Amino acid sequence: MGAPLLRVEDLRAYFHTADGVVRAVDGVSFSLEPGETLGIVGESGCGKTVACLSILRLLDPPGRIEPGSRIMLRDRELTAASEEEMRSVRGNEISMIFQEPMTSLNPVWTIGDQIAETLRRHRRARPAEARRRAAEMLRLMGIGFPEQRLDEYPHQFSGGMRQRAMLAMALACDPSVLIADEPTTALDVTIQAEILDLLAGLQERLGMGLVFVSHDLGVIAQIADRVIVMYAGQVVESGTADEIFRRPRHPYSEGLLRATPRVGRKMQQLSVIPGSVASPKLWPSGCRFHPRCPYAWDRCREELPVLRGEARAVRCWLEEEPARRTGGWDGAALAEDR
Ligand code: SF4
Repeated sequence: MGAPLLRVEDLRAYFHTADGVVRAVDGVSFSLEPGETLGIVGESGCGKTVACLSILRLLDPPGRIEPGSRIMLRDRELTAASEEEMRSVRGNEISMIFQEPMTSLNPVWTIGDQIAETLRRHRRARPAEARRRAAEMLRLMGIGFPEQRLDEYPHQFSGGMRQRAMLAMALACDPSVLIADEPTTALDVTIQAEILDLLAGLQERLGMGLVFVSHDLGVIAQIADRVIVMYAGQVVESGTADEIFRRPRHPYSEGLLRATPRVGRKMQQLSVIPGSVASPKLWPSGCRFHPRCPYAWDRCREELPVLRGEARAVRCWLEEEPARRTGGWDGAALAEDR
C-alpha cells in the first residue's frame, strides 16, 4: 500500500507565553486515506482545532510546531515547506472550513468574487471561467439560481447558505483533503443534517479525504469511518467508528457516549462527565483524565499511560489492569445500551 494521503506524526504544538509553555497539542499522530472520513472528537480545549490549524501551518505566534513533529501530505513534508509552498497548499490541496462562515467570508465582497478569487489565485483561471466555475460550485452545493446568487453579499445569505457558500469556496480547487472544524455546530438540526448529507455526498463523488472535527459524538457517528478521541492535547483512543461507538475502551470515550442522546434511550439516563478539561498550562500529573475518571487509582495519578495499539489504540492503565474496571460510570447501564 502506498503512503497515506495525510500523515501526522508526533505533532506537538506549544504556545510559548510569558506565563509558561502551553502544550495545546502534545504528541498526536494519525493518518488519512483518500475517500476516508476521520472524525476527531473531544470537548472544547482538548486541542482539536490547534491540531487542524497546525496541519495548515496557520498557528499564530506565540504558537509553534515543535521540532520532531511531522506532517506529510503524501510524500511531501509540510513541516519543512516554505511559506510560499504552504500558500499554494492552502485552499488548493488542503482546504479548511470553520464553524462560523463569516470567519472565512469577506463581508464586503460578493460570494461570486470570493469563490472566483480562489480559482484565480490557485488555478490562474480567467475571470469568465472563474465565474462559470463559481456558479457551478454553488449549484453543486444545492444553492438555487446560482448565477444570480453570485452577485449577493454574505449578509444576504442565511446561516446554512453561508456554510454552503464557504464549502463552495473550499472545494472550488478540488482539494485532496478537506478539514471541517465544527462546521455544523452553529446550525439548527435540520440544516445540520442537510450539510452532513451534502458533505458525505461530495466526498464520495470527489474522493477527497475528510477530517471532521466535532465535540458532538452524534454528528461524528453519522459521518466518520474512523475516529480519534482527544483529551488534554493527546489521543486517548482511536478505532473504527463502529468500535468506538459500540465498544469504547477509554473511560473518557465512555463518558462522552453516556452524555450523548441516542434514539431509544430514556433522557434521564444521560449523564455528564464531572468537572472540565484542565488548563493546558498545567496538565494533571499521570493520566491527564484522572481528576475526572471514576476508575482512577494511585497508578493513574502518578504515571502517564502510553497509547497502546495502532489502528485500535487506547491510552489507559485499565488495558493492563482490567479487573479495576468496576463501578465507574454506572457501568451496568452503559453495557445495556450497547
Ligand atoms: Fe482513568 Fe486511570 Fe485510565 Fe486514566 S489511566 S483513564 S485515570 S483508569
